[in-house]
Amino acid sequence: MKDQVNRWISADHAHCWHPFTDQESWESDVPVVICRGEGSWLFDFEGKRYLDANSSIWTNIHGHSHPVIVKAIQDQAATLCHSSYLGLANNKASELAEKLCSFFPDSLERCFFSDDGSTALEVAFKMSLQWRQQNGQKERTGIIAFENAYHGDTLGAASVGGVSRFIKGYGETGLDVYRVGSVEDLLSLPEVVVETASAVVIEPLIQGVNQMRPWPKGMLAELSAWATQHGIHLILDEVMTGFGRTGEMFACQNEKVIPDFLCLAKGLTGGTMPLAATLTKCEIYEGFKGPDRTFFYGHSYTGNALGCSVALANLSIFESENTLAGIEEKGAYLERELTNIPRIQEVRRVGLILGFEVGEGGQEFCLKLRERGVLTRPILNTIVIMPPLSVTMDELKFLIKAIKLEC
Ligand SMILES: *Cc1c(COP(=O)(O)O)cnc(C)c1O
Repeated sequence: MKDQVNRWISADHAHCWHPFTDQESWESDVPVVICRGEGSWLFDFEGKRYLDANSSIWTNIHGHSHPVIVKAIQDQAATLCHSSYLGLANNKASELAEKLCSFFPDSLERCFFSDDGSTALEVAFKMSLQWRQQNGQKERTGIIAFENAYHGDTLGAASVGGVSRFIKGYGETGLDVYRVGSVEDLLSLPEVVVETASAVVIEPLIQGVNQMRPWPKGMLAELSAWATQHGIHLILDEVMTGFGRTGEMFACQNEKVIPDFLCLAKGLTGGTMPLAATLTKCEIYEGFKGPDRTFFYGHSYTGNALGCSVALANLSIFESENTLAGIEEKGAYLERELTNIPRIQEVRRVGLILGFEVGEGGQEFCLKLRERGVLTRPILNTIVIMPPLSVTMDELKFLIKAIKLEC
């Protein structure tokens, strides 16, 4: 086994290229090779187990290899994995679109599928901008976005995001973006910016990549009212906050806001398959009917049957396990325990999304946690804690104990 694992590591070092990774230091290190997952735990080839404290980069919802999800994958794989969504329908995509829209009756009635968070945002931007072009508002070509926002890594989405180091020197000129820091900033925007804006986009309730920073309470509702007043589309990037992380199924439900576009990905398949959805209103959809009004967008795997089938299973577990009921209690426990640790300077939390500050050495802190059987990644010196929603109190106690030993 040891020989086999070493062979995989050599192949990785010789041929693989990891996301957001300095490959120079990666190549000089020995990676953990994960081979199995069960519930909140991941296992390496030596049988060592690790608590998946960031839900495999914010995707996992009900734990690894949940039997209902495994069965959905097996059954669907044996029936149909994929057929093109161009000119054809499939039963699982139909059922999933209906199910997702059912969370927003009479408001978000259309679902457009894509593959990842970034593409869910690309779809929303293109829909908003193209809709303006063919519905008598050609001057509306701008996107208003928030400073330090993160909306994905494809060029369009990255040009809207506010983390300039991700596309520095070659991609900043993408879409026509105007950045603001707060709702107050919106009120002092030049008139021409407001009148030529197509959409405003935000990560509702909490910014993720910007070190887990919650917005003030009520801010989303204010933003929504402002956008409506000025005829600007509201795009909600719920790629991180969707599917229960905030305690409600979707973050927008906390402030009773209904956007023009709702972007979903990460948790949509419970952390198993790449699938995304952009929900929108009837009014937007109707503006794409007729000659020369087609929405020119799609991917090879749009409407993937395997992904849609797993997403349906994921949603069914929310009902069968009453998943949302325990979120606030688990989050509050983590916040209480972490706040009491002297080294920890600040704890920021919404539901089961949490970031805390350790001063210097975030990267080293996470490596030490890994030795103690806890996996997560820092953002600069912010340690992210975002376990699967199914995490148990005993597992959270294990997590707190490991963090205390490192502090
Ligand atoms: C992860 C994330 C994205 C990008 O999603 P990918 O699936 O990685 O393309 C976009 N927005 C937010 C808020 C995210 O957390």
